[in-house]
Amino acid sequence: MSRKTKLIVTLGPATESSEMIGKLIDGGVNVFRLNMSHAKHEWAAEMTQLVRKESKKRHAHIAVLFDLTGPSIRTGDLEKAYELKEGDKVEFRRADVSATIPLSTTVNYPGLMHDVKEGNTLVVDNGALLMRIDKVLDDRIICDVRTPGSMGSRRHINLPGVRLNLPALTEKDHKDLALAVECDADFIAGSFVRDAAHVRELRDAMKALEGEAQIVAKIEDQEAIKNIDAIIQESDVIMIARGDLGIEVDFEDLPILQRRIVKRCHELGTRVIVATQLLESMIINPTPTRAEVTDVMNAAYEEADSLMLSGETSVGRYPERCVEAIVRIATRIERTGGHGFGQNVILRDERQKTARAAVTLADSLADALLVVLTRRGVLANQVALMRPRTAAFFAFTPKERVCRQLSLTRGIRAFQMPFRSNIEETVQLATEQLREAGLVREGTPIVIVSDILSDHFAANSILLHHA
Ligand code: PEP
Repeated sequence: MSRKTKLIVTLGPATESSEMIGKLIDGGVNVFRLNMSHAKHEWAAEMTQLVRKESKKRHAHIAVLFDLTGPSIRTGDLEKAYELKEGDKVEFRRADVSATIPLSTTVNYPGLMHDVKEGNTLVVDNGALLMRIDKVLDDRIICDVRTPGSMGSRRHINLPGVRLNLPALTEKDHKDLALAVECDADFIAGSFVRDAAHVRELRDAMKALEGEAQIVAKIEDQEAIKNIDAIIQESDVIMIARGDLGIEVDFEDLPILQRRIVKRCHELGTRVIVATQLLESMIINPTPTRAEVTDVMNAAYEEADSLMLSGETSVGRYPERCVEAIVRIATRIERTGGHGFGQNVILRDERQKTARAAVTLADSLADALLVVLTRRGVLANQVALMRPRTAAFFAFTPKERVCRQLSLTRGIRAFQMPFRSNIEETVQLATEQLREAGLVREGTPIVIVSDILSDHFAANSILLHHA
């Protein structure tokens, strides 16, 4: 594998067949995402099975990510969409009260009226409609339409800069979480995570169900930005969810925030995904715009672990071409090097210091391979975070789940392999596997980093061995 940047794609009507899932794996997809805002339970369970089946056929370690809806605010059901003009007044009311003006809809969050103030901006449908809140009453708000457009049923509402007192997990999230655990999801993403306590709540709820997934925190609003360090430290993975984040902050701030979060994830030791609108125009067009090429290139240059496609592969016309475009752009920029945030990792423990030493050694040797022996994947992620320049970087681990959970880690290719009771045999076995896969030549220097030596003795170690 010459590409380091990993790829997550969202499944949907455009990609829900075995055949297409197989093609996407062959094209370079590492993780499939199920967006629980749209997915029905039966469908999500079936998609998980298809992904497992198609990856098994190919002996590929492909992960499944369940993305929970989170506490999003939505408009109610309308018989017919409202065609709104500038200056129209629209009422958003609690579900238990009746309309007082003709253009009126319910909202699914009864606390809304207590969180907002007159003058706040209300954004409907991901920026399709902008309104100003004119009047706040106990059971409703009245808004003034600032940009014309259509407002249909169950449209998403954003309130930039407003601190919302929504729960971390809704009733629906709890049901979706139970399904994710039942399906043995590898990753579970929490939407609208606003502080570290939200991440803990999700992790605790998942553990109570005996799930073993890793937790992805989606950064989608200003509250999360304020608490970013604590959220990064509490999460296994951070997702920069640029769809909502791009509405919640001024758009000129978005690229700056993206870069800052990617950098901070490196410093604090957490993996990071850049998501949304990477190839938006390819939902209908066969090639990306120049700006999209530059955006994908930028995220790969920042050395994010993974890039994520949403509508492009769930409902788009060209899912395979989208995968090909990401692979081509990422592979190309990786040849010229990256931003180098891996140099900024704050080395807090001996494990990280050992990882740094191993990466320095491997990068200093011509054509060296870097191999991590890892039981839980922690050391492998720490090594990956240093962003080794060496072309090839492999993890060996006894557990299939760990292999899948390393699938969104930048630059790593995981092999499942039982460990022997002594390190020489384990190293020998790993070298044989690399040789069989055609990844190593006679005499190639291999830097092996490990925090397991034998069943009875644990120590951080670096070995330099020649194949
Ligand atoms: C986003 O907002 O960028 C995102 C990934 O979340 P969702 O698709 O759930 O809105």
